[in-house]
Amino acid sequence: MSELVIKLLRRSGVIGEIDKSEIEKYLGRLWRLKVLIKPIYIGEYEKEGWRNKLPFYLFRCSKHGYGVDYLHGYDEYLYCPQCLEERLKTIGGD
Ligand SMILES: [Zn+2]
Repeated sequence: MSELVIKLLRRSGVIGEIDKSEIEKYLGRLWRLKVLIKPIYIGEYEKEGWRNKLPFYLFRCSKHGYGVDYLHGYDEYLYCPQCLEERLKTIGGD
């Protein structure tokens, strides 16, 4: 299952080493159930241009399936990148 998470992390622009066994450890055996209740911490990662690593989470979007993201803003929310893209398209009007 860590392959999916690694793929999602890479897609979201994470660079550097990703430890497969560490992800397995964070997910545990019941991750499919756990992720329905709340996002699961999957470790700290870095994106290009960042000065530090940030904690990332695996979440489930009811529309797009599994996604990963880091916490944004003071309210610390997660974005589904595909939902965000769709919303930007709507706002853009094109
Ligand atoms: Zn979504």
